[in-house]
Amino acid sequence: MGYVASDTWEGVRGLVRDRCNGCPRDQSKIPLIFARTRSQAIVDFLILAQEPGYWLRQLGNPEAAERRLATICKESKPASEECKKANPLSKVIQIFGNFDPSGERVYLTHALKCIPSVSNRDVNKEWRKAATKCKENFIEEMRSLGKGELNILAFGKFALEMCLHVFEGQDIDQDLSISEFIQSSRLPISYRYKFKDGTVKNINLFVFTNPSSEIVKIRKTGGKLTAEEIQDLETTRIREILKTKK
Ligand SMILES: [Zn+2]
Repeated sequence: MGYVASDTWEGVRGLVRDRCNGCPRDQSKIPLIFARTRSQAIVDFLILAQEPGYWLRQLGNPEAAERRLATICKESKPASEECKKANPLSKVIQIFGNFDPSGERVYLTHALKCIPSVSNRDVNKEWRKAATKCKENFIEEMRSLGKGELNILAFGKFALEMCLHVFEGQDIDQDLSISEFIQSSRLPISYRYKFKDGTVKNINLFVFTNPSSEIVKIRKTGGKLTAEEIQDLETTRIREILKTKK
């Protein structure tokens, strides 16, 4: 019953599209996992967000949804309607500029691969159970992407909960306050993550709030930086990493 690791990117895509055992979410999912036009080894930024491509389910099949989302990543302006629907893509494009998630250093994925069974409002009810199942897909993507080091940008509370669950073995904490977490942590947080096959990867975890859905409390007590100020520092750090050539 072990989770079988795959050696190729197409193998990883197959696993993600396969049944998600025990997951309460819709099994007729439209998981979003981009085909690669260049090796997944060149990826050094993995962006993890709740479900930026969920609204594209109306296109009816995963390939069409992926092509459309890839085009938005490559061409859309941050203020465009499509970018806003693919939240947090506006913010991602502000940080990285337009990018090709299938062929460049920046890769984008859903924290949960399975889509809501009824409506997206069920995410709170389904999250704990789905996250502990769908995380296997995330781990598999992470194992395949990049080389010995990978920068992960968790956007929003759900993606952060999943990362803390995977990297620190924390229980899924649905009361987690992302702004407080950002203020009380020294970001990025570095982990040495050991996969089931024995591979070890250095992970640097950056954390951003989800621009459309979360109100960030502006607090300035005891000389603490606000969450926005900390996110600006993270963005500067990411731009420095991007300047190093690949
Ligand atoms: Zn699932």
